Amino acid sequence: MLADIFAKPNDVFFLAENNARFDGEIHASEFARLQGSQSHILCLLQEHSLHVRINAGRHLDIGLVLELSISGMLSLVCQRCMQGMDFSIKIERCFGLVKSQYFADKLPADYEPLLLEENEEPLSIIHLIEDEILLACPLVPRHRNADCNPWLNTLRSQDSDEACNTTVQKPFAGLRDAFRRNN
Ligand SMILES: [Zn+2]
Repeated sequence: MLADIFAKPNDVFFLAENNARFDGEIHASEFARLQGSQSHILCLLQEHSLHVRINAGRHLDIGLVLELSISGMLSLVCQRCMQGMDFSIKIERCFGLVKSQYFADKLPADYEPLLLEENEEPLSIIHLIEDEILLACPLVPRHRNADCNPWLNTLRSQDSDEACNTTVQKPFAGLRDAFRRNN
């Protein structure tokens, strides 16, 4: 069960204006986007959940801010052997919520602007969390060689053995020269 801050309206400006706090687990089923079109690279298993901490409010000097931290374990799909691989995720971000580029430029260096102009759709907190997770994941997840599917590793080492054999065993290599010499 999600805390109230994930009930509607859950846009990031609303959360900051209301000093929203959250510290808890968010179940994988809440991240529909991570299990949809991106599922060829990303597989957030149903039994998985991520630990999320949100601290939003108004900073005296900066304005509306939102601190977000996300940690936990994802299951990605290795693009070489197509098996699951564990991927540990740890994200810490500070956002400054601004309505124009003018204010975005004034943010301190350690605050990333979340720029939402007047006529734009509200940005939901779940959407923001999903974006951050996607950005933190490798574009093409792959096991380290030693951890990849053992069957593929065996096949690969057989391939390289055969490649070696073909270069070593050339029983008729000298035949063409011998033939030339005799003519
Ligand atoms: Zn693999």
